[in-house]
Amino acid sequence: SMQITGYDDELAQAIRDEERRQEEHVELIASENYASPRVMEAQGSVMTNKYAEGYPAKRYYGGCEYVDVAERLAIERAKDLFGADYANVQPHSGSQANAAVFMALCQPGDTVLGMSLAHGGHLTHGAKPNFSGKLYHAVQYGLDPATGEIDYAQVEALAREHKPKMIIAGFSAYSRVVDWQRFRDIADEVGAYLLVDMAHIAGLVAAGVYPSPVQIADVTTTTTHKTLRGPRGGLILAKSNPELEKKFNSLVFPGTQGGPLMHVIAAKAVAFKEAMEPAFKDYQKQVILNAQAMAETFLARGYDVVSGGTDDHLYLVSFIEQGLTGKDVDAWLGAANITVNKNAVPNDPQSPFVTSGIRVGTPAITTRGFGLDEARDLAGWMCDVIDGRGDQAVIEQTKAKVLELCKRFPVYAR
Ligand code: PLP
Repeated sequence: SMQITGYDDELAQAIRDEERRQEEHVELIASENYASPRVMEAQGSVMTNKYAEGYPAKRYYGGCEYVDVAERLAIERAKDLFGADYANVQPHSGSQANAAVFMALCQPGDTVLGMSLAHGGHLTHGAKPNFSGKLYHAVQYGLDPATGEIDYAQVEALAREHKPKMIIAGFSAYSRVVDWQRFRDIADEVGAYLLVDMAHIAGLVAAGVYPSPVQIADVTTTTTHKTLRGPRGGLILAKSNPELEKKFNSLVFPGTQGGPLMHVIAAKAVAFKEAMEPAFKDYQKQVILNAQAMAETFLARGYDVVSGGTDDHLYLVSFIEQGLTGKDVDAWLGAANITVNKNAVPNDPQSPFVTSGIRVGTPAITTRGFGLDEARDLAGWMCDVIDGRGDQAVIEQTKAKVLELCKRFPVYAR
């Protein structure tokens, strides 16, 4: 049915290959998920054709009456879902959402305090190669190497020393519950704004299985495509503050973006509706149970799980003791159709491109229906591959089991 086939066979083949890859690989990248056919239907709709600079009822273009409906639905649902007083659904991505917030709350050269990339923060939290590290004076906190948990005493000391304009809490690789209130207290003590970037855990927060930062932070950003399981995109939420709300809106458009992606906003509206279903709560609970079951299997097999376990959708395994690299482990598992990513771990002696660890996340496998039995089996097979140090026979046996498992749990009904 694909109209690209016969017109652009090279591209059509790439899409089919990607579809098959998604079906035949176990996806354990913590930031990925499978959007529903409804979400994809909205994203593939005619709303992609519409320019709608501005906001509902305040547009710079005519003909916006129906895209206004979509954007209003997305805004109202986002507010309901997260208990927010304000929502901006226009950011094209999580990075764009953060860029708008930085520009709304800070001037170039201001000091910001965020978690370092190497310890689990995101690029946009002040990393050197990113706008956040180039335009702002970024100070970085990290994990307590003894516990693998956020070093709040360090956050407090750095805040007192550097008096940041904004503190950023949130992460791309952290398996514990963040104490949002502790960050609030530190921010209040030094007169800083608090930005929480909940991109990784937004789905867990929406389902009430991870504490919400929305009424604690001055502003909360997220992506919509990770645990939240919507289309790729960004979202800004805040508690009531009319002055800041105006700034956030004007720094998304016209500050950092032009026309919003109305087809993606329509898809966000669908995803937020799906996230209000009771089944979504069950899904998010299972995401955490699956991550915990996998982490326990790794521990039982003698591997070092950072911080000793997980409270969320991901866990980190450190191979420092075994002297293995994340790069090798990632490649061995990949050869067995198991997709993870290499990840720096506390006290990592290796470079960021090599690392001594992996990050393992359960949002995608749980969407395709894996329960505790499948999660435990899978973790055991991963340990077999790692125990085998890349042994080809073990990889082949594991790949056969993975293919069989994937076949039992199709991502998309065909
Ligand atoms: N914030 C966090 C915590 C993330 O993990 C990510 C995604 O990797 C982003 C922001 C950026 O999102 P995007 O890739 O949509 O720019």
